[in-house]
Amino acid sequence: MTDTATLPTSEAGTPAPRRPALSPSRAGDFKQCPLLYRFRAVDRLPETPTPAQVRGIVVHAVLEELFGLPAAERVPDRAHALLSPVWQRLREERPELAELFTEDDALASWLESATRLIDGYFTLEDPRRLDPEARELLVETELASGVLLRGYIDRLDVAPTGEIRVVDYKTGTAPREIGEAKALFQMKFYALVVWRLRGTVPRQLRLMYLADRQSLTYTPDEAELTRFERTLDAVWQAILRAGKTGDFRPNKSRLCDWCAHQARCPAFGGTPPEYPGWPEPDPGEETPLDRAD
Ligand code: SF4
Repeated sequence: MTDTATLPTSEAGTPAPRRPALSPSRAGDFKQCPLLYRFRAVDRLPETPTPAQVRGIVVHAVLEELFGLPAAERVPDRAHALLSPVWQRLREERPELAELFTEDDALASWLESATRLIDGYFTLEDPRRLDPEARELLVETELASGVLLRGYIDRLDVAPTGEIRVVDYKTGTAPREIGEAKALFQMKFYALVVWRLRGTVPRQLRLMYLADRQSLTYTPDEAELTRFERTLDAVWQAILRAGKTGDFRPNKSRLCDWCAHQARCPAFGGTPPEYPGWPEPDPGEETPLDRAD
């Protein structure tokens, strides 16, 4: 599904190469640690997904498929039944993921933990009463400054009155207080994109923490999103400046505990690979892992 202001099209009518864009995940990376941004967006170093990240991908896919069922069938048993086929499909697409679980017991307990997250979802809302307008929605818009924003929204609910709610599922195990600022940044990003695309500021941003079985709701306003737009412009300009010189500095924090690149990070005694130069076409692309937190 796509919601875009304009999709770039070449003169021949075929899609043009995607322009560099800013995604909430990559903007968040740069704010957290410019070097982490470089490793992910410029060097594009592979990161081996953890079982928790793969579980996030699977649970997001189950919830996405759940809303494809008739409303009356969106019950826990049906959601549980989706889990195994979704995992099988992902394993076929990415055979290396099977190596995450070398013992049957580990796989069984991982699947149980995914089931608990799905059950956590059902404690927060009744999907039989909802009719989302979109799931896994690709959104893209260009700010007045020329910065292109692009990202995926887990779910978009639109009330009969036209009020919009942006919903994001959080499946990660990192302490909530650490991830909360990052999550709000991501939600403001989506709120701004939706506002620019549809001319309406979303009424509510809702973060659903499935492990904690708690929701966080937030109501943005125009003044705040206008300030946030200036923040994104500044982040993008800083990325472009660093991109020209290759000067992406490490910024050590508690979040380094979750970084896959400590071995090549100077803050931990490592040496980064030689700077490969600013990438084309798109250093801002999100990956499924970004949406699995
Ligand atoms: S280990 Fe920490 S400082 Fe180093 S790249 Fe990762 S997040 Fe940045």
